[in-house]
Amino acid sequence: MGTLIRHASVITMDEVTGARPITTSIRISDDRISEIGPDLEPRPDERVIDGRDRLVTPGLVNGHLHSWEALFKGRYDNLPLELWMLFSYPILGIGELPADLVRLRTLLVAMESLRAGVTCVVDDVLETPTQNVDQLAAVFDAYELAGIRANVSGHVINKPFVDTLPFVEEVLRPDLLDEVRAITPPRTDEYLDFSRRAFERHHERAGGRLRYMVAPSGPQRCTDDLLVGAAELARAWNAEYHIHVLETKVQAVTGREFHGTTLVEHLRRIGALGRETTLAHGIWLTRSDIEILGAANASVSHNPISNLKLGSGIAPFRDLLDAGVNLALGSDGASSSDSPRMLDVVKAAGLLHKVSEPDHHRWPSVAEVLRAGTLGGARSALVEDRTGSLEVGKQADLVIYDLNTLPFTPRNDLAVHLVYSENGSSIEQVMVAGETVVENGRLTRVDEDAVLAELRHWLPRVREWQEEWESVNAAFVPAFTEIHRRCAATPTGVNRWSGDEEAWLVG
Ligand SMILES: [Zn+2]
Repeated sequence: MGTLIRHASVITMDEVTGARPITTSIRISDDRISEIGPDLEPRPDERVIDGRDRLVTPGLVNGHLHSWEALFKGRYDNLPLELWMLFSYPILGIGELPADLVRLRTLLVAMESLRAGVTCVVDDVLETPTQNVDQLAAVFDAYELAGIRANVSGHVINKPFVDTLPFVEEVLRPDLLDEVRAITPPRTDEYLDFSRRAFERHHERAGGRLRYMVAPSGPQRCTDDLLVGAAELARAWNAEYHIHVLETKVQAVTGREFHGTTLVEHLRRIGALGRETTLAHGIWLTRSDIEILGAANASVSHNPISNLKLGSGIAPFRDLLDAGVNLALGSDGASSSDSPRMLDVVKAAGLLHKVSEPDHHRWPSVAEVLRAGTLGGARSALVEDRTGSLEVGKQADLVIYDLNTLPFTPRNDLAVHLVYSENGSSIEQVMVAGETVVENGRLTRVDEDAVLAELRHWLPRVREWQEEWESVNAAFVPAFTEIHRRCAATPTGVNRWSGDEEAWLVG
């Protein structure tokens, strides 16, 4: 049975109308948009949705997310990345989480994302201490059940964690160094085998809704043979290659300490940059890095709220667009930003660069941040041929907003209302692949109360574990504080906190 949405205000995000609302109708046949036009008449047996007083938009795409952090949401504040990671991704004293808890944790993320109009997530699943086959399958199973579209990794760190940071030998207690180095990280061949099996088992699951991606954690956290081997797999499977690059100033210093060059230049030299590559963050980039990314046709997932919360810095939004780099937007983890709500992220992206750029002609437009939050995210996830805009032939991944609400009153420019006024409370219905997965604020495929009840049963144990991990890993705090202090004081030629152009030009 098909669906016809009649006479709605529609933001298509296609090449022609972009973020400019038009009044039209959308016919959905099975999982796809089969027709768009003002005069479509209902067919017998077709479900008709009256689109008057409604806004229809493509579903939002979360281009960078870590579902692992869902259990750490609302727990930390005022910690920079390197110190926050000590607690949210403990180095010592942690065992593998049971797959059942992983499934519940993922459902939480899927539920909150869908209800907020997010129809596609790029979930970089960083399990600590490492990821096993059952945990990965639990993530896929949860997304399959919830009805959301997802790219799921395959995240790996294959160096002892202490060897991914600069100055560590000088500042960390030798007994702690030894203890961390005694933990054997996955070998390159183990990760590549894991990924090959994951591609075979999960890639294009659920009618193509779910895809596996490779995700070496960062160029400083993985060996070159793994970085290159994962890139070859991504190309062979037409899958996303997702990697954290230059999120913090510590990482900018790390690149120079480890390779004598920037981390982007290092990736280019070893052949690990291409159209399948998405850099998460991309803050401490030099001008030359930005040109390299543009030439490589790579994407950057910009995560403004997480970057603000961890004090990481401000990504060069306009310079990246000018260089032809595809921009996605991401919430980042559920603990570094405490929410997967993408409308908040779109709004933050629209706001943040207005204070770091004196020329208001270079500020992000509503159309640009909406594009990054939809089609740009789809392009970075390598699914732009199926989602990210409302066009004939694409999957029907869309959100229907009620316009008779306070956020959309008095109905001036609907795109401006959507970015700056709406918070998700006007969402009436969310569709993924033509199926209504949220109706009247509730998921249709998941018993949300049952999931929360199941999770409540785990929470006392989770809380005990967290308290134990925090007390064990507090031993690293003095050394990591010193690393952070030294890096903050090291000139990199790039100043992404103040937006200082003179310092920037040095880079
Ligand atoms: Zn991340």
